[in-house]
Amino acid sequence: MASAGATELRRRLSERVLELAAAYRRLHRPLTPDRLAAGIGYSWREAPLAGRDGLLEPSSRTILVAAGQPRTRQRFTLAHEVMHRLIENDGDLLSDLHDAYEGRALETALERLCNLGAAEMLLPGEVVAKALAGAGPNPRLIWELAGRWGVSEAAAAVALSRALGPGAQVSIWGGRPLELYVAAGAAAPARGLVLPGRHPLSEVRQTGLPFRGPLDLPGGGRGEAWARERGGRVYLVVVGVREDAG
Ligand SMILES: [Zn+2]
Repeated sequence: MASAGATELRRRLSERVLELAAAYRRLHRPLTPDRLAAGIGYSWREAPLAGRDGLLEPSSRTILVAAGQPRTRQRFTLAHEVMHRLIENDGDLLSDLHDAYEGRALETALERLCNLGAAEMLLPGEVVAKALAGAGPNPRLIWELAGRWGVSEAAAAVALSRALGPGAQVSIWGGRPLELYVAAGAAAPARGLVLPGRHPLSEVRQTGLPFRGPLDLPGGGRGEAWARERGGRVYLVVVGVREDAG
């Protein structure tokens, strides 16, 4: 399954999904919630959805979005459901998808591709790349991009790690004691990891002063870090992550 051909097929799938998302954004911007749904001929409304974020209801041409969630998350859900529709309607993409995956792996891959497309729709990769070229791997890009493009900080962190490429890790820490809210990229630890005591990131929060330099990462590995505090949270961007313990 993981032959060179399958790897190439999967890479092509991601590229094609990114193209679909970018084309949809160009056609329907500004992507307000109403315009997001209207682009596929749907309306949307909030509904109590047990255990899920969103649902396409073709009979009424309605996208249902879980009630009570933050606006940024609801907008991401709308974009995710729109991606389902765009992929369903693309015969070539769909047949490639079925060639590359089967069973549970197919479902997982489809969800991942819908998230990939939704992120690109709401926060274009070229915008992130341009911001990075201007500011360098500065953690402030996480809250700046999130604020300017109306996406969650988690979505901005994921987009930033993707734009930085292999070997980069982006994470957001908060709460007391500091614990991991979200991490993406190389050697990314799981959500909920509690920061060990006396870690340099604790000092970043206590003092409000940025940290720059080599850092032993809380979840393992080491890399060149840039951390900043804002509103009690710590934002961390690491490049050149080496996963070897040592
Ligand atoms: Zn989905």
